[in-house]
Amino acid sequence: MDKKYAIMGDIHGNLEALETVVKDAKEQGVNSFVCVGDVVGYNANPAECLELIKELKCVTVRGNHDHYCSHDECLDDFHPLAANVVDWTRHQLTPEQIEWLRQLKMVCIVDGFTIVHSTLDMPEKWGYVFDTLEANANFTYQSTSVCFHGHTHVPIVYERQDVVRKEALTKLKITLGKKYFINVGSVGQPRDGDPRSAYAIYDVKNKLVELRRLSYDISKTQEKIRKVHLPERLAKRLEAGK
Ligand code: ZN
Repeated sequence: MDKKYAIMGDIHGNLEALETVVKDAKEQGVNSFVCVGDVVGYNANPAECLELIKELKCVTVRGNHDHYCSHDECLDDFHPLAANVVDWTRHQLTPEQIEWLRQLKMVCIVDGFTIVHSTLDMPEKWGYVFDTLEANANFTYQSTSVCFHGHTHVPIVYERQDVVRKEALTKLKITLGKKYFINVGSVGQPRDGDPRSAYAIYDVKNKLVELRRLSYDISKTQEKIRKVHLPERLAKRLEAGK
């Protein structure tokens, strides 16, 4: 069977967004799922999202929120808003769910492509790739033609030729011999000013990558955030896409 992958990331406990993306992916003929990390954190359904990801047999790498929500580490380096949610999330998960987060690897190679949450040069440092210089540091460590990542919540494609090109696009044909570092954006908390969920589909046989955006029921996600008394800013930012 030809594999068609949905690459999802930064789901952050947003069940409405995740269900919308999974439904769309299946309609598009996707038969395999991978996740570039941050299943939990920020929104009100971390346990439900984790269970759905497990159910999809989704190969998942570790995000910084997955890490901190499953380790009793000091949160001083975290933004206070994020630290507050990490603490709340820790209390929503069963010991089995915490163990599932703990065993996640930092980097995986699936079907000839790589997945990582932040960047391949120092994945445990959780560095953000916002420019071509940072993308170049990643390419030095990238052994496959295609690598998918997340973390910034902003979809973008970096292409390595002699220099790195940075592009925002929706469809990309993979050219043999080139290298691509592709940010799939965020399912559960987009930050590029577009509130719609982002994810990517990779058709391995035809070497085609599509970056997709989907509307979902934001008001329902906001309602849940307010109901459990998570910070109001987390609800507001969903409609702004920031
Ligand atoms: Zn994230």
